[in-house]
Amino acid sequence: MKLASKCVHAGYTPANGGADALPIYQSTTFRYDSTDHVGDLFDLKDSGPFYTRLSNPTVDAVETKIAELEGGVGALCSSSGMSATLLAVMNIVHAGEHVVSTATIYGGTVNLFSVTFKKFGIDVTFVDADAPDEEIQKAFRPNTRLLFGETIANPSIAVLDIERLANLAHKNGVPFMVDNTFATPALCRPFEFGADIVVHSTSKYMDGHGVQLGGVIVDSGNFPWDNGNYPEFTVPDESYHGLVYTQAFGRQAYIVKARAQMIRDLGTAMTPMAAFLLNLGLETLPLRMKKHCENAEKVAEYLAGRSDKIEFVNYPTLPGDKYHDLAEKYLPEGKSGVIAFSVKGGRERAAAFIDHLKMISLLVHVADIRTCVLHPASSTHRQLTDEQLRACGITPGLIRLSCGVEDVEDILEDIEQALEKV
Ligand SMILES: *Cc1c(COP(=O)(O)O)cnc(C)c1O
Repeated sequence: MKLASKCVHAGYTPANGGADALPIYQSTTFRYDSTDHVGDLFDLKDSGPFYTRLSNPTVDAVETKIAELEGGVGALCSSSGMSATLLAVMNIVHAGEHVVSTATIYGGTVNLFSVTFKKFGIDVTFVDADAPDEEIQKAFRPNTRLLFGETIANPSIAVLDIERLANLAHKNGVPFMVDNTFATPALCRPFEFGADIVVHSTSKYMDGHGVQLGGVIVDSGNFPWDNGNYPEFTVPDESYHGLVYTQAFGRQAYIVKARAQMIRDLGTAMTPMAAFLLNLGLETLPLRMKKHCENAEKVAEYLAGRSDKIEFVNYPTLPGDKYHDLAEKYLPEGKSGVIAFSVKGGRERAAAFIDHLKMISLLVHVADIRTCVLHPASSTHRQLTDEQLRACGITPGLIRLSCGVEDVEDILEDIEQALEKV
């Protein structure tokens, strides 16, 4: 099946006479007839559900669907995008080890990496994703275990050179993990360019309607965990009676371990209801992404033509945009719905523009059906220093505009009337 068909059909096949829509298994636990069967489940010899923290049929269907959309060998849903990134990294990086991350990533992830991971004993070095290979290479250490980046970086709309960075990671014997939230598999599938692990906040486009928090980790199955840097995969796991992940699960070693150890012990499971709502969103993902991209392209063009009031516009379809060529390579079907632009006159003018908007809402959210704006310097990124702000590509007047699926004429009209007032 192609992508739009997978969005509708993958992960759940109704039985004869069964429910056509994915049912919600609103149950914490599952009943079995024999102690032997339950024993096999605990030994990971059988994969049926026994407790919803570890697996649930509704969540499982969505995991299968997302794994197919990304072209991976398995997926693990979690309670939020943040917990997905947390579990994905903790699954392979431990106290005393090191991560290299591009600097242009989601503000919440910057906090997790630079503040909370430090308390866990994990050190993170941030690099400029656009720097030459030699420059980025200098950040790697003998104890580096991961390279991390974002397909389209929020809020600067920087497009990641996935293939180049994947090669760099592999030269250093570590996997390349990509946060693919803004692109979604409808626009970019990072595994096709050598990425090893993908994480998403499903709270954004995947759900698309702003009704549930969620995250997902997807495993390409391609990274050689037996290369010597990841002994946890090749020595017996004492918490699973001496199981060796690479031997028992082959290409699924990473994602099975993430479930068996990380979500078991950290407990950030996705609820069946959230999975049900996420699945509804996924069913229409390609349709919605097409409209988001079309609207954003037109709005970016309009803003670029308003140099009387607008300092700059970042959107990769614009001629001369720094990321135009990378976006053509990695996002051929559309550049997503998020635009960054800076209102002339800085912080106060930007705030006044936002306060004059009518249909377009001011939200701490992005990437759903309703067009919304955010002023990062005074909200999501206010905890960052000016230096950190600049490293993320943020100016005081920067506004992040997330184009929804309304009629583009209405979005443009609202922007125009607000611009007239500043
Ligand atoms: C929102 C977001 C996250 C965090 O996801 P939550 O679901 O809010 O925890 C991570 N990465 C990106 C790119 C995001 O936009």
